[in-house]
Amino acid sequence: MSAQACTHLDEIKVRELPAAVDGCEDCLRIGGKWLHLRICLACGHVGCCDSSPNRHATAHYHETSHAIMRSLEPGEDWSWCFVDEVGLAVSGISGETRIPPSPLG
Ligand SMILES: [Zn+2]
Ligand SMILES: [Zn+2]
Ligand SMILES: [Zn+2]
Repeated sequence: MSAQACTHLDEIKVRELPAAVDGCEDCLRIGGKWLHLRICLACGHVGCCDSSPNRHATAHYHETSHAIMRSLEPGEDWSWCFVDEVGLAVSGISGETRIPPSPLG
């Protein structure tokens, strides 16, 4: 967990997590099912993890080049840089997000 390995920290615009989300916004649009939720720290897009069928967080990175996402799972505060492929502990982000249970259980 070394922040020095990532050069994208200045892309982080989301400093406060939403109080609640309804789920992966792309899955909700297409009727898909997610396992775990991730939030893009550049724009606040909520997507699903790579263990989900549609992998919308990674798809969002490929569409937008937004490098850093953070877990929205309860009790998890790690972030991940897609470009550097490195786990990060990003400080200075407040709030905790209420999420619905995964439709995949
Ligand atoms: Zn990076
Ligand atoms: Zn999704
Ligand atoms: Zn984004």
